[in-house]
Amino acid sequence: EWIGKRGQKKLREKSGLIIGCGALGATTATILVRAGISNLRIVDRDIVEISDLSRNMLFDETDVTKMMPKPLAAKKKLKRINSEVKIESIVDDVNSGNIERYAKGMDIILDGTDNLETRFLINDLSLTEKIPYVFGACVSSQGMVMNIIPGKSPCLRCFIEEVPQYGSLATCETAGVLPSIPIVIGAIQANEAIKILINNETVEKRLIFIDIEKNEFSKLKVDRREECPACRGEYEYLMRRKGTDATILCGRETVQISPPKKIHLSLEELAKRLALRGEIVVGKHLIKFAPNKEKEIIFFSDGRALIKGTGDKKIARSLYSKYIGN
Ligand SMILES: [Zn+2]
Repeated sequence: EWIGKRGQKKLREKSGLIIGCGALGATTATILVRAGISNLRIVDRDIVEISDLSRNMLFDETDVTKMMPKPLAAKKKLKRINSEVKIESIVDDVNSGNIERYAKGMDIILDGTDNLETRFLINDLSLTEKIPYVFGACVSSQGMVMNIIPGKSPCLRCFIEEVPQYGSLATCETAGVLPSIPIVIGAIQANEAIKILINNETVEKRLIFIDIEKNEFSKLKVDRREECPACRGEYEYLMRRKGTDATILCGRETVQISPPKKIHLSLEELAKRLALRGEIVVGKHLIKFAPNKEKEIIFFSDGRALIKGTGDKKIARSLYSKYIGN
């Protein structure tokens, strides 16, 4: 008996946090909701775009037209799948200033992010708060899954030491992602998460590697690294102070700007102010503003902005300060 009635009952008492609701996060969310987890918290910073529809199983064209933030669109669908699951959707950028709050009370964290900095941050938090973390990542036709069980397994930084120099690594920006791979990887992540939550003895101890181009499946033993800073108690990513931050969103020609502290932006006032300076669409949760044909800026009420049409942090920062201030 793999799950059985006992496992089902256990799962109904568990809470999970999914960070990032792209194709990976949407897949794990769907499976966990169908499996009957008690509570699912989904955090993502972006809105649904047409390019998401090629691989994201939760979204459709209506979400694109309505400019739905991903966690809200996800919640709507997931509620229809299993109304008994409590679903919290949070539109925010996960960083060192808020991750503890979002992880509070959670029994597991699932990786749906698209960058190593956030993954190292989750890894730090997993170790300090002793919450298991299921790492998952894909690029091109390949993907990986690794369970990080605090106190028992090596951690993510035992496996990957540092964030590689920009441009030295194939990312979804340069290599793209085959639509099927995040679904395969997400399914394995969800499966491992369920095993961890119900204390199944088959929890995978190795790193799983899959390449769907030639259908290669392999498992790799990861050793604890003597010099691993996180395992030695140096939580570099969790301790990092947050400043005004510009982040490139992988594969989307978009830069996110987030203020160091939460501010409250009156979207109504901002819309009035910007109406004379370009084209503007007011959504329920955001404003879409196009100062010209090449660029588009999405403003959220917490002061965050997504600058679309550029991958250059400097340009993005200057546009932000032009319309919002410093
Ligand atoms: Zn480590």
